[in-house]
Order: sequence, then C-alpha cells, then structure tokens
Amino acid sequence: MKFRTIKGTKDILPSDATAWQHVERTVRQVMHAFNYREIRTPLFEQTGLFARSIGELTDIVSKEMYTFPDRSGESVTLRPEGTAAVLRAYIQNNLGEQSPLVKVYYIGPMFRQERPQAGRLRQFHQFGAEALGSPSPSLDVEMMQLPLEVYRALGIDACALNINSVGCEKCRPAYKQLLQTELERIRQQLSEDSRARIANNPLRVLDSKDPADREATAHVPLIKDHLCDECRDHFAAVRRLLTAAGIPFTIDGRLVRGLDYYTKTAFEITSTALGSQDALMGGGRYDLLVEELGGKPTPGVGFAAGIERLLMVLQALKRPAGEEPVPTVFIAAMDGTAREWAFAACHALRRSGIPAEIDYLDRSLKAQLREANRQQVAFVLVVGENELTTGEARLKDMRSGTDHPVRLDALEQTIRSLHG
Ligand code: AMP
Repeated sequence: MKFRTIKGTKDILPSDATAWQHVERTVRQVMHAFNYREIRTPLFEQTGLFARSIGELTDIVSKEMYTFPDRSGESVTLRPEGTAAVLRAYIQNNLGEQSPLVKVYYIGPMFRQERPQAGRLRQFHQFGAEALGSPSPSLDVEMMQLPLEVYRALGIDACALNINSVGCEKCRPAYKQLLQTELERIRQQLSEDSRARIANNPLRVLDSKDPADREATAHVPLIKDHLCDECRDHFAAVRRLLTAAGIPFTIDGRLVRGLDYYTKTAFEITSTALGSQDALMGGGRYDLLVEELGGKPTPGVGFAAGIERLLMVLQALKRPAGEEPVPTVFIAAMDGTAREWAFAACHALRRSGIPAEIDYLDRSLKAQLREANRQQVAFVLVVGENELTTGEARLKDMRSGTDHPVRLDALEQTIRSLHG
C-alpha cells in the first residue's frame, strides 16, 4: 500500500457514518431546542488569531498547532478549536449589531499535533456552542445543559460535571502572585513541566496529572477561595441554577482548563466509560476575549465537546448507534431489455423519494437476488420479457416472504401502500 492516512487521522468509513450522523442529528435537535443557530467558519485562519486568543504559552499554541506559511508567505493555521474563529466571524460580520445576544453552534473537525493515543487524535471533531452578549450565569449553565442534553438523548447518563471559577482580571492577578510564591516554595518537589510553568502559567500547575505534583500541591491556595465579590456572586448563582435544574455537579478547585481566555466559570464533563483521556467536553466564560480580538467589549461563554470520545462512550455502553440506510426496493432484471427498463424505473422511484437499487455488474438473476438480500432491502421486483409484455409483475416482501401482484405503471403507489 503506497499511501496511508497520516498519523493521528482516521477515515470515517460508510459503516461508521451511521453513528456519526446519529450523533450529529441529535446535536442539531438539541441545539435547535435551545435556539442556537449553526455557524460554519473556515478550517484555516491567520495564525495570529489563535496565538492571540488561546494564549502563546498554552500547550495548544506552543506545541500543537498545524502552522505553515502559504504560498504567499502568510502564516496560516488549521483551527485547533472553534471559539476563536466564531468570535472572529462575530466581530468581522457585526453579528452583535443584528441582535444583542447571539447564540451559535458548530460541528466540525479540529487539528492539533498531539501524541496520538486512544481517544486522542490529530484531526478530531467537536460540536460546540457560543453565546455572545450576556454576562448572565444562566448562559453558563445553558452551556452545561446543552452537552448534557445531547448525552441524555443518546442514552448516556454516566458522566460527571465538574465546575470551578477561575476569576477575572480583578481577582486573578493577586491570586496568581500568591500561588507563584507558594509554588516557588515547593519548587523542588514539582515536575520539570510544572516548574517551567510557575513563572508564566502557574494555574496550569494545579491540573497537572503527575502524582508527585498532585501531592506537592495538595494544600496550595485555590482561586475559588480568592475570588472578588463579582466572581463569587456569579459562581454562587451558577451553583444555584444548577441545583434548581436538578443537575448534579462537583466543584473542582483545580479545574483551570488549558486555554488562557477563560474568566469566571470553567467546567468539564468526564465519563468513566473512557480511559485515561476521560474528558468528554469542556468550556467556560470568556468575558474579555471579544475585546482582545478587536471587537467591542462583549461577554461570552461556550463549550466544545469531542465527537470521537462520545462515540467511544456510546460503543462502550452499547447504545443504539442509528439505523443503516437501506434501499426500499431492488429491481432485479432478467435480460438486457429489462435492465434498461429497470434503470429508468429505478430513477423514477428515487425521484419520488423511494430509495431504490438495481444491478450494475451484469449479474445473473440468482446473484441479483442474493445481493438484494445482502442489502436487506424491503422489496424485490423481478422483471423480464413476460412482465414487460403484460405490464404485471410480482413484488416480493423480503420480510414476510409474501408476493404481491403489481402493475408496473403503478409501482410507486403499490410500494407506498405496502411500505407505509
Ligand atoms: P478542549 O478544546 O481542549 O477543551 O477539548 C474539548 C473536548 O474535545 C475534549 O473534552 C475532548 O472530548 C475533545 N478533544 C480535545 N482534544 C482532542 C484530541 N486530540 N482528540 C480527540 N478529542 C479531543
């Protein structure tokens, strides 16, 4: 084999596509129920957009982006996440002027050059949403309800919601200093990665998975205990709304997420049906980001959820993955004249909305019937010289095995009356 998929990328084969469509359909239904409208942005953008929004020092920007100069020398990047591009589109198209609150969702591929492992790909897919224009904590909770409703509709209930507040530009700087001082004190006990983060990204030390880091930082101060009044009130409102909505949650004071742009609420949903890469989705509020990208000050909140991981959970829990589409009718032809008639009749059925199929491989009648059976069609129509002369044929119901007489000029109506 000469060419293969690039490491960390995967084909979605026809046999997988049914489950993907089932998930995508469910996402759209839930998004529409919550009054979110779809947005589709380009798969690549100016590199600066991501560097500016996600943060130069984050793993994504410093290590994982697919960045390259295009033929004119401009640096472009395959999108590693959805939020930055949605905000760019919001600002560029003045969406905020058309409506004070803009609620949008997306479904599509993202690209990160991470080390591939189970549940971690280099081209993966996310669905997500952004609500721009309101600081209301009810939207923070809506961003948790959206994925939870998608999971519920797909039959997944074994997932855990973790929330935290990462503060804002008023309370975070003082906390950051406090944390830095504390981390300097225990520097020797920290992993190399964490030591490197003390100066620039100390909050990320808190969500290190390294057991030694965990132990060493067990007693460091957490931002949720050092919030300003506004952030504290906001966090309290989020918790009240979650409780009132009957959504169980855990406060995780170490949850900071890998992106720089979050303010106030940050959240994540994990599933025990996944292995070490157990995060199903993450999100948070980003009240400064629109301004940071050159727009008017606009509060915002959003989430992004992995689709491959969701499919892994569905598979692990053996949840139904949608129905494979099959043709309703297969027209089997006995000779050359009948083949030409079948080709035209098949087209007429397809045009009327009845999925239909014929043979393209010049197979014997027996082989055509075997193929129809393999494809699990509902009906088979056999046509030959006789049928074309009399205008009458028999339509075999493959489930019950019964034959129905059918007039060839009333094929569509007969199939509809039998198939519902
Ligand atoms: P993030 O944008 O990093 O907050 O990721 C949000 C969600 O996307 C995660 O919870 C995962 O479900 C999914 N995800 C992130 N990175 C990957 C990846 N490399 N491969 C597969 N899924 C991913």
